[in-house]
Amino acid sequence: MTTLDQIVQFAKSTGFIFQGSELYGGLANTWDYGPLGSALKKNIKDAWIQKFQRQSPYNVLFDSSILMNSQVWEASGHVGGFNDPLTECRSCHQRFRADHLITEHDASVDPDGWSTDKMYQYLVDHEVKCPSCGSHDFLPIRAFNMMFQTHQGVVLEQANEIYLRPETAQGIFINFKNIQRTTRKKLPFGVCQVGKSFRNEITPGNFIFRTREFEQMEMEFFCKPGTEMEWFNYWKQFTKDWLLNLGIKASDLHLDDHSPESLAHYSNATTDVEFKFPWGFDELWGIASRTDFDLKAHQEKSGVSLEYLDPVTNEKYIPYVIEPSVGVERLVLAFLLSAYDLETLEDGSERQVLRLHPKLAPYKVAVLPLVKKLHNEQAKALFDTLSTSFDVVYDETQNIGKRYRRQDAIGTYLCVTVDHDTESLGSVTVRNRDTMAQERIKISELEAYIRNQIKY
Ligand code: ATP
Repeated sequence: MTTLDQIVQFAKSTGFIFQGSELYGGLANTWDYGPLGSALKKNIKDAWIQKFQRQSPYNVLFDSSILMNSQVWEASGHVGGFNDPLTECRSCHQRFRADHLITEHDASVDPDGWSTDKMYQYLVDHEVKCPSCGSHDFLPIRAFNMMFQTHQGVVLEQANEIYLRPETAQGIFINFKNIQRTTRKKLPFGVCQVGKSFRNEITPGNFIFRTREFEQMEMEFFCKPGTEMEWFNYWKQFTKDWLLNLGIKASDLHLDDHSPESLAHYSNATTDVEFKFPWGFDELWGIASRTDFDLKAHQEKSGVSLEYLDPVTNEKYIPYVIEPSVGVERLVLAFLLSAYDLETLEDGSERQVLRLHPKLAPYKVAVLPLVKKLHNEQAKALFDTLSTSFDVVYDETQNIGKRYRRQDAIGTYLCVTVDHDTESLGSVTVRNRDTMAQERIKISELEAYIRNQIKY
C-alpha cells in the first residue's frame, strides 16, 4: 500500500503540490498546487459539476461570496456553536482536539454528540496519553470557535467584524428564494456550489487532509418533508457511484451511518463516506439529511418567509434538505493514493505510473516528436490542433522511452508520437498509459479516437 510519505514526495517532486510559502520557510499546513495539481483539482471540480449538476435534471449551479453579513453565522449556529473541543497537555502544552484523542485511544468509541464534561471524564478515567509527550494530564476542555474573524473596512471596531465562511452551504440557504424564483424550479431541486472555506482547525495535518483553507463542493438538495429519506439514499448511492466510476476501489470505501445518538441535533440521518487513507478509514465526504433546520433558522432571524408554495397541492412548507459535502483536497489525496503505482515490468524494471481516470488526468495527451530535429514541426502543428479540444502537453527532450516514462508518472493517458512514417502515411502512433500498447491511427481520425478513449 502506498504510504503518505511516498505520496508527499511524489507530489512535491512532480509538481502536483508544494509547501505553501516555501521560499520564506513555509507557513504550517498550507499547500500550493503546482501545474499538475491545479489541473487535477480543476478536473475533479469539472467531474463533480458534470455529474452532480450538468447531467442532473434537478440541479443548478451557484457561486456566493465568501464574506457575508455576520447575522448569517448567528442564524446558522456557527457563532454560538461551531466549536471544537480543545484541550491542552499540562506537561508539554501541546493542544489537541479531545474527540480525536478519544478515538485515537479507542477507535470503537464515538464521542460525536458528547458534552465537553463527558469527554474530559473519559480522558481522565482511561488515562489517555498525550500523543506528543506520553503523559496523561490534560487541562479541562473548552470550546474553541473555528471561524476566522476579520474586519471589513478601515476601522477596527466590533460593528465591522465579519467572518471568512467556514462552509459554502449558508450562501445557498440565504439565496434559496432568489434561486427558486429566477429558475422557476419546482421541488425537488438542488443547488451546487464550489468554493473556498476557512476553518481555524486546532490540529490540521496529514498533508492536505485537514487544512485551515480548503475548497468545498457542496450541494443543497431541497425536497418535500417526508420524502427526505428517499433522496438521502438516492444521493448516497449517487456519491458512491461517482467515486467508483472515477477509479476509487470499492474495498477502499466504507459508509459509516451515524447512530441515532450521534446525530447532530438538526439531522435525522447522516453518513460519512470514508476512504482508506494510509492511517486508516477516515471521512472523505459527509452526507446529511438536515431537515428544515437551516431555512427555518434564516427565516426566523431575517423575518423573511422562506416557505415554498407547492403549485400542485397549494401547500406551504419549508423544504427539507439533503447535503452531500466534500473537500476537493481530500479528493485529490484519495485519487492520488488510488492511482499511484510502482509496476514491475516483465524485464524486471520498475515504472512509476499514475493510473488516474482520463477525466482527472492533468494531460489527456502528450505529443512527442520521435526525433526532435526531424519531426518537431509536424508535432508542433499537431499540438496546435489537438490543444483546441484537449489538455495536451508537448515534450521533445530526451529519448522517447524516457519521455513515455515521464508521462506515465504524471498520469498522461495517451502519448501521440510523430515519426518517420507520419508524413507518408498520414498517421501517428498512439500509446496507452495503462497497457503500454501502441496503435497506428490516421491523423484525420485522431481527434475522434482520443475523444472516444477519454469519454466520461
Ligand atoms: P471533521 O469531523 O473531519 O472535522 P466535519 O465533519 O466537520 O469534518 P463537514 O463540516 O461535514 O466536516 O465538512 C464536509 C467536508 O468538507 C468533509 O467531509 C471534508 O471533505 C471537507 N473538510 C472539512 N473540513 C476540512 C478541512 N479542515 N480540510 C480539508 N477538508 C475539510
